[in-house]
Amino acid sequence: MSYTNEVLRVALERNPGEAEFSQALTEVMEALEPVFERHPEYAKNKIADRLVEPERFLMFRVPWTDDKGDIQVNRGFRVQFNSAIGPYKGGLRFHPSVNASIIKFLGFEQIFKNSLTGLPIGGGKGGADFDPKGKSDREIMSFCQSFMTELYRHIGPDTDVPAGDIGVGGREIGYMYGQYKRITNQCVGILTGKDVAYGGSLGRPQATGYGLVYLMDELLRRRDDSFAGKTVVVSGSGNVALYASQKVFELGGKVVSLSDSDGWIYDKEGIDLDFAMDLKFVRRGRLTEYKSHRPDAEYHADGLVWSIPCDIALPCATQNELLKDGAGLLIKNGCLAVGEGANMPCSPEAVELFLENKIMYAPGKAANAGGVAVSALEMTQNSMRQCWSFSEVDAKLQTIMCNICDQITAAAAEYGQAHNLALGANIAGFVRVAQAMLLQGAV
Ligand code: NDP
Repeated sequence: MSYTNEVLRVALERNPGEAEFSQALTEVMEALEPVFERHPEYAKNKIADRLVEPERFLMFRVPWTDDKGDIQVNRGFRVQFNSAIGPYKGGLRFHPSVNASIIKFLGFEQIFKNSLTGLPIGGGKGGADFDPKGKSDREIMSFCQSFMTELYRHIGPDTDVPAGDIGVGGREIGYMYGQYKRITNQCVGILTGKDVAYGGSLGRPQATGYGLVYLMDELLRRRDDSFAGKTVVVSGSGNVALYASQKVFELGGKVVSLSDSDGWIYDKEGIDLDFAMDLKFVRRGRLTEYKSHRPDAEYHADGLVWSIPCDIALPCATQNELLKDGAGLLIKNGCLAVGEGANMPCSPEAVELFLENKIMYAPGKAANAGGVAVSALEMTQNSMRQCWSFSEVDAKLQTIMCNICDQITAAAAEYGQAHNLALGANIAGFVRVAQAMLLQGAV
C-alpha cells in the first residue's frame, strides 16, 4: 500500500461516521499520491500523517435565551487545522446541519485554499448547529454573544481570525465583534467580514462571488472565450451566489437561475438581480416570492436546477448539491464549464464525469478562494490601521485569482494531467504547506 493510502486508511478509521470529512480526505490524499512518490522527504517527515490531524479541535456549549424567555442550547465548534503558513483563518457556519464532520472537512479544505492565495494564512473553520432562519434580531444577537463568550479565548489577530460562511453575514459578525470587544476591551482584527464602519474592508462582501467569476473568466480567456453571451446557471441565493451573478451580468453573461433549500427559480430572461438582492439581503425572504414579481419565471420545489440548459454552471449553495445525475444533465445539455463557488458542491462521481467529458472544471478550493484572500487583505488593513479603496482591493483580488489560475494549471501540467485542475489545486496548495512544515521541524 502506498504511503498516502496508508495514511488515508488510518485517518478514515480514526474518524468513523464522518462522511464529509472522509470525502475531503480521500479526494486530497488520492490527488497527492504522485507528489509523495516524487518527494520521499515528505513521507520520511510524516507530512501526510500530520496534515490529516487537526492541530486543535474545539467543541463547546452555546446557551442562549429565545424571545419567549426559554433557554436554548446549541453546539459550537472551531477546528484549528493547520498553522504552518500563518494564523488559522476560515469562516463560521451557522446551520442546523453543522457537525464535527462538516467542520473538519471545511477546515481541511481551507488549508489548501488559503495556501493558494499566496498569503500568510493557515486553515481553520467553525460554526454551530444553530438555525438563524426565522429568528428575531434579538435572538441572533443573544446567540452570537454567547458563541463569542466561549470562542474569544481561542482566537486573536495573530492566532485565529474567523469570518462568515453559510448563515453568518455582516449582522452576525457585528454582534460577535461587539461581544469580543466587550470581554477583552480591545479593538483588534479578530474577525473579518466586518462592516467598513468599524474596520471592515471594502470589497469583502463581493470577494468570493467576484473572485469565482474572475477565475472562470481567466480560464475562458486562455481558451479564447469569455462570459459574453453565455447562459449561466447559478445555485444558492446567498452572498456567493448573488455577487457571482452580479459579476457575470457585468461581463455580458446571463444568469437564469437561483436556488435555496426549498426550491429553485428559472427566469429565461435573466434573473432580476436588484429584486433578488433586496429579497435576500434586506428582507431575508424566500425565493417563492420571485414568481409574484416575475410571473413568467418558473418556480420548482422539486427537480434539479442543473436540468436548465446552460453554457456555464456555478454551484454556490452547499456541499454535495451537484451529484452524478445533475452532472449528466449539464453535460447532455452542452455545458462547457463548471466553477465551484460553494465548498465541495460537486460529488466525486460528478467531478469524474466532468473530467471524462473534458468539461472545464474549477474546484472550490481554487475558485472560491477570493473571499478568504480579501479577508487576509482586511487583516493587513487592520494591522496597518488603513482603509484601502474598493478599486485597490478589487485589483488585488483579480491579481490573486490570476495567480491561482497560473498555479493550478502549472501543477496540473507538471503532473501530466493538464485538464485536471482539481489535481492541480490540491498539489499547488499542498506544496507550500508541506515546505513550511518541513522547515518548522516536527510540530
Ligand atoms: P449564505 O448563507 O449567504 O447562502 C447560502 C445559500 O445556500 C442560501 O441560498 C441557502 O438557502 C443555500 N443553502 C444552504 N444550505 C443548503 C442546503 N443544505 N441545501 C440547499 N441549499 C442550501 O452562504 P454563502 O453564500 O456565504 O455560502 C455559500 C457556499 O459558499 C458555502 O458552501 C460556503 O462554504 C461557500 N463559501 C463562502 C464564502 C464566503 O465568503 N461567504 C467563501 C468561500 C466559500 P437557504 O436560505 O434556504 O438556507
